[in-house]
Amino acid sequence: SITKDGQEVDININAGLLVDLPHLDETGASGIGLFRTELQFMIASSFPRMDEQVAHYRAILDAAGERPVIFRTLDIGADKVLPYLRPGAKEDNPALGWRAIRMALERPALLRLQLRALIKAAGDRDLHVMFPMVAEVEEFRRARQMLEHELEFVRKRGHAVPRSLQVGAMIEVPALLWQMPALLPLVDFISVGSNDLMQFMFAYDRGDPRLVDRYDTLSPPLLKLMSDIFSQANAYKVPVTVCGEIAGDPLSALALIGLGLRSLSVVPAAVGPVKSMVRTLDAAEAQEILTQLLDRPDHSVRDEVEKFAIAHKISINT
Ligand code: PEP
Ligand code: MG
Repeated sequence: SITKDGQEVDININAGLLVDLPHLDETGASGIGLFRTELQFMIASSFPRMDEQVAHYRAILDAAGERPVIFRTLDIGADKVLPYLRPGAKEDNPALGWRAIRMALERPALLRLQLRALIKAAGDRDLHVMFPMVAEVEEFRRARQMLEHELEFVRKRGHAVPRSLQVGAMIEVPALLWQMPALLPLVDFISVGSNDLMQFMFAYDRGDPRLVDRYDTLSPPLLKLMSDIFSQANAYKVPVTVCGEIAGDPLSALALIGLGLRSLSVVPAAVGPVKSMVRTLDAAEAQEILTQLLDRPDHSVRDEVEKFAIAHKISINT
């Protein structure tokens, strides 16, 4: 979609199962910005075997055709539990526990199997892989190394390998924000998981109904953080996208575009509303107002962004 002042904004969808794929055509989205691979594992009664994983990823890529699919490796733990894969010990704080890439690096056989399945499923097509819950550069480096190792393994056995491989890190753990100069040269793209980033930044449990509305996505600290991430990624010429729920809310998406974001991944139902917002937005005007709001002492700047949208006749209906 193109803004009124000619800025191109790439709109992708989040997906997790084959039944989500028809949404690509229905919405006209450019691709899948977040494919949550754990969903296949969550609906299975035992750990999906290599051939089952390959068949699944291949079906996804076939259905997506020329459109890119960003596969996120297993994000298990916290709210995503596999009944057949117990963490072993009871955790008081599962969101901060043994999950996602932490589990993957400690049980490398699981991650290796998944990476090999993704490579085989891609064949000679493009492959995009991203790792969740990265807290330090070293974790990303090790995961990427494993992926490259699997690529070599498949190549040496004479199978087709992807014509291109793009490897990204999700920005979900605040610690990573202070490692950007070390991280950015090692990644092909980054994707901001604002759901987890919000919860860790404000130290609130995203699953606690008493707290879901306690902090606002349109709050100065979150917007400032986003602005910082976008400018650092731009400085390193690393593509950046936001795939958390925030991107699917037209008013929040307006704010993110005002802060420099040009790629979003949203739930399929949000594509229409976000596209309408983009087409009625002047990104330069949004930038002007947004930069004035970043240092406000307020709980939220939602009212100011909304007033701006109404005054400029920007479509913000959900
Ligand atoms: C996020 O944390 O913003 C995200 C996209 O991942 P998930 O919601 O699956 O944790
Ligand atoms: Mg997350």
